[in-house]
Amino acid sequence: GQKIGVFTSGGDAQGMNAAVRAIVRVGMFLGCKVFYIKEGYQGMVDGGDNIQEATWQSSSNIINVGGTVIGSARCMDFKERWGRLKAAQNLIYWGITNLIAIGGDGSLTGANCFRLEWPSLVRELVDKDMISKDKIAQCSHLNIVGLVGSIDNDFCGTDMTIGVDSALHRIQEAVDSIMTTAVSHKRGFVLEIMGRNCGYLPLAAGISSEATAIFIPEDPPVGDWRQALCDQMTEKSKSGEVRRTHIILVAEGAIDREGNAIKCYDVQKVLTDQMKMDVRVTVLGHVQRGGNASAFDRLLATRMGAEAVLALMDATPTTPACVICLDGSDIVRRHLLNAVQKTKKVVELMGERRFEDVVQLRGRQ
Ligand code: ATP
Repeated sequence: GQKIGVFTSGGDAQGMNAAVRAIVRVGMFLGCKVFYIKEGYQGMVDGGDNIQEATWQSSSNIINVGGTVIGSARCMDFKERWGRLKAAQNLIYWGITNLIAIGGDGSLTGANCFRLEWPSLVRELVDKDMISKDKIAQCSHLNIVGLVGSIDNDFCGTDMTIGVDSALHRIQEAVDSIMTTAVSHKRGFVLEIMGRNCGYLPLAAGISSEATAIFIPEDPPVGDWRQALCDQMTEKSKSGEVRRTHIILVAEGAIDREGNAIKCYDVQKVLTDQMKMDVRVTVLGHVQRGGNASAFDRLLATRMGAEAVLALMDATPTTPACVICLDGSDIVRRHLLNAVQKTKKVVELMGERRFEDVVQLRGRQ
């Protein structure tokens, strides 16, 4: 049977464990040996106890648990050739030549570079006597499949990333909690929503919580947003709409058309000074990444994990690495490097404030 290594890397996200569980079980079902590589790339570089064979039992009771039970890390060593050389040595020691990387675009970029560099790493290991020559035949190429674990939903190619639905639930719970106290005191609340350059979470949460206003990076307000916000609220109250509270969601990366950051405290100041409201700020931060995985994320991650193993079984030395994506309701395989490049392009376009192009690129597969 083949040997598959699975690791989680970059920021954690709810549902990663469901993916790990599916990979272990589908892998074993197909006669493979599956290995946990703990603490992301750091565990791959360090080896030792970080690489452990998975058992059916060890992947029990984790489908619901948020975060990642096999640990995640950012790893500077893996960005260096010597780090990747050590990682390759450890994988070859265990006979692992199939990898499933669960992470964001950085982790998947790293995985793709590793795959392309693999033959030269193997040569160097042989030249330096770090692996024995008889191992080469079984280790001539490395297969990689990526899964996107990220609460931001900022990856091009997939409609949803693993974790984003659970994060939306967390935000919704927080907004519902804030609402009761906000309404009681006739207070406004401005919430900062984590999600880097991606407005998916504040947009989705704003719609489902009747937010008064939502600030997202991809669609900055035109003109003077301070005045527009005050006008909107004044009009609402003039039209007879009685509101005991206003909830305003501000994306972590919210900006105006000129690229200046819009922060919660800016919005609070406008409402306090101009609307004479009592307004509080709440930054949700890592609360969004915590707690159990939603049913949707468990199903999504399970389906993606199963497909990842099947993709590895189909891989040949010449097939490009793929990333498992959701397209509508279908699970599909997409070209890993293309998807990563588009995702990086979006970040570039955001920097250049080419917002229409960002929306177009995100929407296109
Ligand atoms: P998140 O979306 O949560 O930030 P991410 O996977 O994008 O997740 P990164 O910090 O960018 O997070 O990457 C995680 C790890 O992947 C890095 O710490 C590094 O070890 C590895 N990595 C990233 N980019 C590269 C690269 N170009 N070459 C080699 N390794 C890389």
